[in-house]
Amino acid sequence: MSKQFDVVVIGGGPGGYIAAIRAAQLGQNVACIDEWKNAKGGPAPGGTCTNVGCIPSKALLQSSEHFEHAGKHFGEHGIKVAGLELDLPTMLGRKDQVVKQNNDGILYLLKKNKVSFFHGRGSFVAAKDGGYEINVKGAADETLLATHVIVATGSNARALPNAPFDEENILSNDGALRIGGVPKKLGLIGSGVIGLEMGSVWRRLGAEVTILEGLPTFLGAVDDQIAKEAKKAFDKQGLKIELGVKVGDIKIGKKGKGSVVSIAYSNAKGEAQTLDVDKLIVSIGRVPNTIGLNAEAVGLKLDERGAIVVDDDCKTNLANVWAVGDVVRGPMLAHKAEEEGVAVAERIAGQHGHVNFNTVPWVIYTSPEIAWVGQTEQQLKAAGRGYKAGTFPFMANGRARALGDTTGMVKFLADDTTDEILGVHIVGPMASELISEAVVAMEFKASSEDIARICHAHPSLSEATKEAALAVEKRTLNF
Ligand SMILES: Cc1cc2nc3c(=O)[nH]c(=O)nc-3n(C[C@H](O)[C@H](O)[C@H](O)COP(=O)(O)OP(=O)(O)OC[C@H]3O[C@@H](n4cnc5c(N)ncnc54)[C@H](O)[C@@H]3O)c2cc1C
Repeated sequence: MSKQFDVVVIGGGPGGYIAAIRAAQLGQNVACIDEWKNAKGGPAPGGTCTNVGCIPSKALLQSSEHFEHAGKHFGEHGIKVAGLELDLPTMLGRKDQVVKQNNDGILYLLKKNKVSFFHGRGSFVAAKDGGYEINVKGAADETLLATHVIVATGSNARALPNAPFDEENILSNDGALRIGGVPKKLGLIGSGVIGLEMGSVWRRLGAEVTILEGLPTFLGAVDDQIAKEAKKAFDKQGLKIELGVKVGDIKIGKKGKGSVVSIAYSNAKGEAQTLDVDKLIVSIGRVPNTIGLNAEAVGLKLDERGAIVVDDDCKTNLANVWAVGDVVRGPMLAHKAEEEGVAVAERIAGQHGHVNFNTVPWVIYTSPEIAWVGQTEQQLKAAGRGYKAGTFPFMANGRARALGDTTGMVKFLADDTTDEILGVHIVGPMASELISEAVVAMEFKASSEDIARICHAHPSLSEATKEAALAVEKRTLNF
């Protein structure tokens, strides 16, 4: 006999496992199905984020930053380092341990909240008795009956049509996080978040990195002033970024005992070029994943990109079938997936869950970090909205000087009549943490004056946030 659940969640990434936990907290009988396998074939919930995304990339960014600091910056602090050496297997092993701790943590949380976990692939069988039959194919083959289904099947890396991933020479984010030796020359196609983060890791560890970007502008979604500041910093670090290129043939040839990847491209001037690298990471975006879901069996509607079509409340075209996270429209971010998961679980329980897309923060964990929330200056200009801007450089912040990390600035954009904060943009140390204050402020519809009048600890990087808010009225105190 099929096991009956109030809610069956397909996918155990940040969208899925969080939805499952929230639904269980609200008294539902919940199952969560996830197919990700660890190296031993066991369950590894947490999705892209935990296994080949947010978590392992941040582990390697941290380790590689320590390596770079030890080699290049400890001297400034009067610390001499002799015999500095990279132990890449240990670094990669630590990253794998961090991933495992997160996998185990999620399994523990599901158990703690009495969510039944199924390891295997979940797929629709048919609509039945006002609910849905879901098959789970794993070690066992079983069928579950669900009143509500939440699809949270995530996304996969987009490949170039002429250069499929082999994870040996041409790498997706998966291969990029487990290169066995530092490549002498590393190429990346795509200078988005993933490209910049992966490029930073391997540059810090000693690779000569070239990023080829098709768009003519660097980080087009980022506030122009912030993107320019970041680009200056990356140029100084030796991260080579070529904009406006058109990639052509990609060939894998032999070089000694190894191989070489040759990328033919035309540069921004239209001149034919070739880039030869030891490894190539392709980071040109991600594709919503519905492989194996058998969406056709129940008539679940997908759009032309393969994303599940949902309304503002994450409802699909089918009664009681919901979808959240990377598999639907909107930014492909773990915290956006989580917020949608919570909101859907609350709607199923008859509550009024809500996600405010205007206050979803974005972060790029490079050095300097880049973080923002709300509108950019170019967006406000295009919309014809009246605004005031205020900036404050980390160069004038005492804590940043003490840290030895003074690159960048905080920038506030506020409505020119009401003073409501419309956007906050940060490039600099710990921008990922600093942005939270701006998110809270915007959620509460704060004005820039509200932030300017709040007492901030001294010395702290957050004083730069207060000073940027003061700068909106041209009354910074420390610059
Ligand atoms: C290198 C990299 C770095 C990133 N860094 C960040 C970051 O710093 N911050 C951030 O916010 N975002 C980051 N992201 C994006 C983030 O990982 C995604 O937005 C997030 O994982 C989406 O969550 P999700 O739950 O929608 O899907 P996923 O995390 O992709 O999870 C989907 C899960 O569903 C499972 N699944 C799929 N189909 C089925 C099926 N039919 N049956 C059973 N299981 C199934 C998959 O195996 C997977 O476990 C990064 C992504 C990458 C690639």
